[in-house]
Amino acid sequence: PAMDKEAVLKAVRDNNIKFVRLWFTDILGVLKSFAVTPSELETALEEGMGFDGSSIEGFCRIEESDMIAMPDPSTFTMLPWRTKESGGVARMFTDVQTPDGKPYAGDPRWVLRRNLQKAADMGYTMYVGPELEYFYFKDSKSTEPLDQGGYFDLTPLDVASDLRRDTIFALESMGIDVEYSHHEVAPSQHEIDLRFKDALQMADAAMTYRLTVKEVAMQHGVYATFMPKPIFGENGSGMHVHQSLFNGDKNVFFDGNDMYNLSKEGKSYIAGLLKHAPEITSLVAQWVNSYKRLVPGYEAPVYVAWARRNRSSLVRVPMYKPGKEKATRCEFRCPDPACNPYLAFAAMLAAGLKGLKEGYEMPDPVEDDIFEMNTQMRDERGITSLPGSLGEAIEVTAQSELVKECLGDHVFNQFINNKRVEWDQYRVHVSQFELDRYLPIL
Ligand code: GLN
Ligand code: MG
Ligand code: MG
Ligand code: MG
Repeated sequence: PAMDKEAVLKAVRDNNIKFVRLWFTDILGVLKSFAVTPSELETALEEGMGFDGSSIEGFCRIEESDMIAMPDPSTFTMLPWRTKESGGVARMFTDVQTPDGKPYAGDPRWVLRRNLQKAADMGYTMYVGPELEYFYFKDSKSTEPLDQGGYFDLTPLDVASDLRRDTIFALESMGIDVEYSHHEVAPSQHEIDLRFKDALQMADAAMTYRLTVKEVAMQHGVYATFMPKPIFGENGSGMHVHQSLFNGDKNVFFDGNDMYNLSKEGKSYIAGLLKHAPEITSLVAQWVNSYKRLVPGYEAPVYVAWARRNRSSLVRVPMYKPGKEKATRCEFRCPDPACNPYLAFAAMLAAGLKGLKEGYEMPDPVEDDIFEMNTQMRDERGITSLPGSLGEAIEVTAQSELVKECLGDHVFNQFINNKRVEWDQYRVHVSQFELDRYLPIL
């Protein structure tokens, strides 16, 4: 059962909690935190805690920077890497408000809440199950792997299995259920899959997951990274997002009589994801480096198509348990784990819901290898491409009414401005690639 204010106060007393961290995120999905002592907690729960938001990315200008962090008691949990004996630490996610108690337009959690409310008004709850991949390296200054394992390898005598195990214990102690975990394709690359939850809880869980993976790695003296493509020539790290809409207990995507087990609504949702994919790509793959992952040959999508099995496609309809209602879902494969999960889930939902509302037709699946096709073959089958760089992606987003409405003007403008600056900084950079290539011949 979700905790309320009284339960939080009791848990803090019973567990010798010395600090309660209040968490929120900036527009880029960076976790922000400040701590209150137990003596402040009752007031914090009633009135929220004031803080200066002026230096937070995507928040406000100096003149209007007073913000309130209003704790969400249902998210209270202890942080397992601080022991009870030495004085425990707990955390709650907060909703950011303006001083007059209104939701703050720059708060990504509010953006997701607002979009989930639109779905709720149509009778839908969005469930998501993300697969976050990441690498362990010796430290943050190198990409020296800890192991040479590959996909599903059980690597003996490496620290990685212990790291994964400790991470899973930590996640589970915070109420985040893990479905499974394994070594990924690249050396030192791993994946821990979370059991599906409603989208708001899952966005919180994804934030907690990233911190937990990094904390546990640090305790073991290594470094964990969610950078989308840290090693040239190896798979990058994705965050495939499995998603479905439920109406109460009923999976809206399921129709047992359909050849794909997909309902009309499910198909239109997928059609929406496909059609609007280029517009939302900058939100699910938001860094210059994200586009080094979205290239042919590394199980990451490049083209806009769906399939049941083909793992190079953008949307996959998994066939593990065909005909099982609860498991019917689609998997959106271009997001990476360095996105802002609140904005990413909101954008995917907006794209899918648009398709659903307008009754978009789902195109035929493409089970052949799209990477084997030439441009003409792709054109004939109506297969378009995802944006090839952050620069391209952000300009497609900047033209998107769908994204603008999804994010609201404030976050939309802040995000576009921020990303244009990042792209410009990258664009003028002279890289080793150019020096190696051009100096000797030009
Ligand atoms: N690492 C791949 C990606 O970038 C996915 C590999 C897999 O999970 N099969 O999306
Ligand atoms: Mg997986
Ligand atoms: Mg994987
Ligand atoms: Mg997957």
